[in-house]
Amino acid sequence: MINENGDVILSVSDLYAEVDGTEILKGLNLQVKAGEIHAVMGLNGSGKSTLSKVLAGHPEYHVTHGDVLFRGKPLLDLEAHERSLAGIFLAFQYPLEIPGVSNLDFLRVAYNAQRKAKGLDEIDVFDFDDLIEEKLDVVKMDASFLERSVNEGFSGGEKKRNEILQMALLEPKLAILDETDSGLDIDALKTVAQGVNQLTTPDNAVVLITHYQRLLNYITPDYVHVMADGRIIKTGPKELALELEERGYDWVLADAKVEAAV
Ligand code: ADP
Ligand code: MG
Repeated sequence: MINENGDVILSVSDLYAEVDGTEILKGLNLQVKAGEIHAVMGLNGSGKSTLSKVLAGHPEYHVTHGDVLFRGKPLLDLEAHERSLAGIFLAFQYPLEIPGVSNLDFLRVAYNAQRKAKGLDEIDVFDFDDLIEEKLDVVKMDASFLERSVNEGFSGGEKKRNEILQMALLEPKLAILDETDSGLDIDALKTVAQGVNQLTTPDNAVVLITHYQRLLNYITPDYVHVMADGRIIKTGPKELALELEERGYDWVLADAKVEAAV
């Protein structure tokens, strides 16, 4: 779903970042335009989750070099919540549980924060109920999940659906989904994929971090990137994912002269 005017949503240039004094990202480049879906694949430990956390503004991750532009503006000076309000959404690989906070309240607070940032009044409680019902449909989630504490006692698949529910509500310009497919059975995988497809428009973009190609049977990426040792070492069309499934990663690492970490 390429946007004709080719607006650049995300531009990452020569990014280096560290956590706890360890350099993880080492010269990463990535450009994402409106309407595009990018898959980022790679072995465990290649730095995929680190990339997502750096983009979302996780306070423990420090950028030591490079630039990130989000919709043409510098991103790295913004706090995590400012990035969220600006339209970046991160679905975590391991979604947090928030005991004592109902899912409904959590979603309403997040939605209202976004409205406030746009200079709008808080949404009427009944209007919010209607809105969230519409969004529950996108992920085929039962309304009973709204009354429960955020993610508490949710199965792996339910947590991932809940992440997509947040995405459906917040309508981000850039959604980064970190291994949203892991731990899902085939039905949940299809539902999550359908949700993501339904939410992708010519004005937004999705970065799908995934270890396996099976999610890409249901979501067709415009580009597939291979990450190793903290940078993107190969970019190809959607067929690259199938090739990786068939041949593994060794040949890509060898071509790029990167030593496999595992
Ligand atoms: P991926 O998501 O591709 O599996 P990660 O970004 O989670 O990779 O991790 C990349 C590397 O960074 C791994 O070697 C991991 O051990 C290391 N790493 C991640 N978090 C920390 C941390 N807090 N302190 C030190 N090393 C870390
Ligand atoms: Mg990861």
